[in-house]
Amino acid sequence: MKFFDVTAPIYTGMPVYKNKPEKQPSLDTVTNGYVTETRLSLDVHTGTHVDAPLHMITDGDTIETVKIEQLVRPVKVIDVTSVEEAISAEDLKDESFNEGDFVLFKTKNSWDEDFNFDFIYVNETAAKLLADAGVVGVGIDALGIERAQEGHPTHKTLMSKEIIIMEGLRLKDVPAGNYFMVAAPLRLQGVDASPARVLLFTETPGA
Ligand SMILES: [Zn+2]
Repeated sequence: MKFFDVTAPIYTGMPVYKNKPEKQPSLDTVTNGYVTETRLSLDVHTGTHVDAPLHMITDGDTIETVKIEQLVRPVKVIDVTSVEEAISAEDLKDESFNEGDFVLFKTKNSWDEDFNFDFIYVNETAAKLLADAGVVGVGIDALGIERAQEGHPTHKTLMSKEIIIMEGLRLKDVPAGNYFMVAAPLRLQGVDASPARVLLFTETPGA
């Protein structure tokens, strides 16, 4: 069965949000010559990850409230690689969104090897359109789903409707279309996000 691994690799020196040094993972390996163990220190928004409402909403729900059943499911990859600045409602006018859809946006970001301060994001108008359509999840191939919008309206619009946000996907090799997603965040408790391994299958397993 064919699948795409759309997960960013995690390593010291990897692209992190705004290149902030404190967001770099640290991997400290100790060995006595025959037993090797590595201690990992990681921002929960590192690489490919799922955000929880707590990230942008005071007292919001934490990551364990996002059930695995909501992340192992059909998804739609939408090609918006022609978009230059931000995905707006206007850019999505030829797409149809149905109640219960989980959408992943493939943008130019998937070709960035370093953090791009001008990454393509989902603007407020697109967030409203998706929320009004009853979409249940939105993913993007940037380390943020929005930038340069005061008050974080995209996060707030999506999170207030309990729409799941996934960031840091790598979709360069994935053609637009329908897939079966297996997104498995680390089973962290009580925090605002979790890194995830994300696979997109070209057909539904067992179907
Ligand atoms: Zn995040």
